[in-house]
Amino acid sequence: MLLFTPGPTPVPESVRLAMATPTLHHRTPEFEAIFKETREALFDLFGTDEVVMLASTGTGAMEAAVTNLCHDTLLNVNAGKFGERFGKIAQAHGLGNVEIKHEWDTPATAEEVIDALKANPSVDAVAVQISESAGGLRHPVEEIAAAIKAHDPKIMVIADGITAVGVERIDVTHIDALIAGSQKALMLPPGLAIIGLSRAAIEKIGEGKGYYFNLATEIKKQRQNTTAYTAATTLIIGLRAILKEISQRGGLGKLYCDTARRAKATRFALEALGLHIYPKSPAKSMTTIDDPNAKEIRDLLKTDFGVNVAGGQDHLKGKIFRINQMGLIEPYEMVAAVNAVELALAKLGRREFDGTASRVFNEEYFKSALKREDA
Ligand SMILES: *Cc1c(COP(=O)(O)O)cnc(C)c1O
Repeated sequence: MLLFTPGPTPVPESVRLAMATPTLHHRTPEFEAIFKETREALFDLFGTDEVVMLASTGTGAMEAAVTNLCHDTLLNVNAGKFGERFGKIAQAHGLGNVEIKHEWDTPATAEEVIDALKANPSVDAVAVQISESAGGLRHPVEEIAAAIKAHDPKIMVIADGITAVGVERIDVTHIDALIAGSQKALMLPPGLAIIGLSRAAIEKIGEGKGYYFNLATEIKKQRQNTTAYTAATTLIIGLRAILKEISQRGGLGKLYCDTARRAKATRFALEALGLHIYPKSPAKSMTTIDDPNAKEIRDLLKTDFGVNVAGGQDHLKGKIFRINQMGLIEPYEMVAAVNAVELALAKLGRREFDGTASRVFNEEYFKSALKREDA
């Protein structure tokens, strides 16, 4: 069975093997050396002034970012389940909350964010997904962040990059907190979250808020290559291994480039079958199709063709399916996936099978590769 869900994503063999080594105690020079090496590689990945690793899923990092960086009112963009979650976190902590709500296919604009800030002067932090995984939607976060800082540089910008860090290079110039999680683009088992922080964020954090998720405590410890509480040793060893694997396979630039080409070729292949891309601004992390037969297609992919893709949640349940693009995916695996979609459509009597999906994928994916080699 090919695992093509946008999280969890497959864990490469070298990473699984690295995590199979005997347990290390976290307060030892051996582990501190691993921690240091991993931390240094994370600075490359995030491009931020500081990074902290947390033993939690991505949601824990979202909560840590909100509680430490928002002291009054949070403005969140809700164009899907994960955007909605930021608002719920703010409310759970008794913070003020203002929400911009969109259908799950529609990106936020810088203009509406600034209008909301003008109407709500108590907002001191804005939270938005870079890639909203509920519908595979890319918000123009860099543009929104730049507009926020031009409006008021004191407002903190929290960017959920759980399905974006490791997918594409994020311009962090105007971002104060950039969040990643282990089981999506970082190809690890769940349980580790990472936050990249700006200097302005560190200043605002001050003494920190809360106890376990007090970022001031973590920053202080992690600068000494240790953690405040027991480190997620095995996952950090896995993180070091995946960052090494990415580097050995040509580095982050190649990973981003391959991901972008694969996402584009998949989109073209599925559109050539007459399918419709759901989000108005598609993220590179996944390819989302809305279709009246979405449920049947997804079921057939699994039962007849050995391809496991994700469906939709809430009002999109049975209405969309999502094909993962995150991680080190070989083009032949994606050819198999788009071909399986074509076979499923044939089985449903929607179109005659003629190999269109794999042909279009191959044309688009490899043509751009040949062009680059010529250049
Ligand atoms: C998966 C996901 C989360 C939640 O992460 P958990 O690890 O499940 O807590 C948050 N935001 C986005 C965009 C995600 O894709």
